[in-house]
Amino acid sequence: MQDAIILGGGISGLTAAYLAQQGGLDISVIEKASHPGGPITSCQKDGYLFERGPNSLLLPAPWVESFIAELGLQDQLQETNPVANKRYIVKKGRPVAVPTSPLQAVTTPLFSIKGKLGFLLEPFRKQISERAGRTETVASFVQRRMGRDFLDYAIDPFVSGVYAGDPHKLILEQAFPIMRGFEREGGSIIRGAIKHKKRQKREGTAYKKRSISFREGLGVLPKTIGRKLGNRLWLNSEAVAVNRVDEAWQVTWKRDGENFEGFAKNLIVCLPSYAIKRIAWSKGISEPLKASPNLEYPPVHSLALGFRREQIAHPLDGFGVLVPSKESPTILGALFSSSLYEGRAPQGHCLLTVMMGGIRHPEFASLSPEKLLPIALSDLRSLVGLEGEPSFYHCSSWPRAIPQYTRDFAPWKETLHSLEDEYPGLHFGGNCVDGIAMGASILSGKRLAETVS
Ligand SMILES: Cc1cc2nc3c(=O)[nH]c(=O)nc-3n(C[C@H](O)[C@H](O)[C@H](O)COP(=O)(O)OP(=O)(O)OC[C@H]3O[C@@H](n4cnc5c(N)ncnc54)[C@H](O)[C@@H]3O)c2cc1C
Repeated sequence: MQDAIILGGGISGLTAAYLAQQGGLDISVIEKASHPGGPITSCQKDGYLFERGPNSLLLPAPWVESFIAELGLQDQLQETNPVANKRYIVKKGRPVAVPTSPLQAVTTPLFSIKGKLGFLLEPFRKQISERAGRTETVASFVQRRMGRDFLDYAIDPFVSGVYAGDPHKLILEQAFPIMRGFEREGGSIIRGAIKHKKRQKREGTAYKKRSISFREGLGVLPKTIGRKLGNRLWLNSEAVAVNRVDEAWQVTWKRDGENFEGFAKNLIVCLPSYAIKRIAWSKGISEPLKASPNLEYPPVHSLALGFRREQIAHPLDGFGVLVPSKESPTILGALFSSSLYEGRAPQGHCLLTVMMGGIRHPEFASLSPEKLLPIALSDLRSLVGLEGEPSFYHCSSWPRAIPQYTRDFAPWKETLHSLEDEYPGLHFGGNCVDGIAMGASILSGKRLAETVS
């Protein structure tokens, strides 16, 4: 019997597996796809290096940096170009730079005078009760504390960029717990953030989060862990059934039409919620899972588009541009990928990554790459002054991209926690539990490995 079987070879499952193996445990990872890493895949074609899924890893804690070094990837690490500090949001059809200094905040055309005043009054606004706060949406929180303008032209596009989601549906406490913590701790976001910073300084835990990638793209991270796991990583293997047999977990998976079976003391589940629900679980586990809510996963298309540099009038001097739902372009946003990291496009060319779909445009889910292209190009013409056609195009479609932390999320997590309490050796993690960012999934894997070590 093994120490642990890990379901799902996304970055959370891989991290858990690697750390558990380093700790001397005997493990196996069961992954349905033909490659490890879930959506984290980088491709090289025609001189372009593009990401099919995530584009940047926001380092959430110093430990993640040491983990990268331990994997031998330190030399590959790429910092974002300093230009990436600049971000654009569309207002009245044009990209407007997000203010980064108090002076810019006063002069920016992004917010109205009323909006700016609303922001200044934030520290003086009342809190709502602890109970009401638990189920408050992101939109309600932001509107209550900072006003409508800030919701429409800062938070709405940001939420779209991170969750491909809707701030009116996401629950603040689940989706952005740090913001809720600021209000709880400081009575206001601004006061809470200042207090938080001071405390970190005092405790010596201050850490400046920053976005990174790798010279070969983010895909090198799961690939490297996959290589280190060797034959302990079962690819093309779909977990189909889990049974509790005596004190052990019996897992059945399918590969090439054949059934395989394994037994382990611990079962670590790093699957999307819909995949967890599809598995045939033994009695006692299947019923609560069936009764738990279905998390929504909106579809996202990621379009990698290559152009000659002179085809685009915009300086592309930033991270990219996000589109608020109030504005008319239908893309969610575009990353200026070749401005962010070196080596993304051939000399004299540039690479843009356009996101389409999300909660805002579920109707795009069924569109083919050929149908999506003219929509994206039309938006880019008005947003960045694009002329002509792309010389490179690749479309990656994620029918179920990112779990939405809506009001269904808390009862879903509660179900998983009560199963963990009831069944020793059963552990859930990954982005349907611990946060949707890549960094959160890495930390989730670390947490899981520590639980079984
Ligand atoms: C288009 C897109 C862009 C994104 N951009 C960013 C970004 O820029 N920055 C960022 O931080 N995050 C980004 N994210 C989010 C981030 O990539 C994910 O949240 C993170 O990679 C999730 O990792 P995970 O291990 O928790 O889950 P997953 O990667 O979803 O892993 C789950 C694994 O389980 C496997 N699986 C499913 N069913 C079974 C089964 N029955 N048996 C065995 N295996 C199964 C799947 O194939 C998958 O590999 C993006 C996501 C998408 C889709």
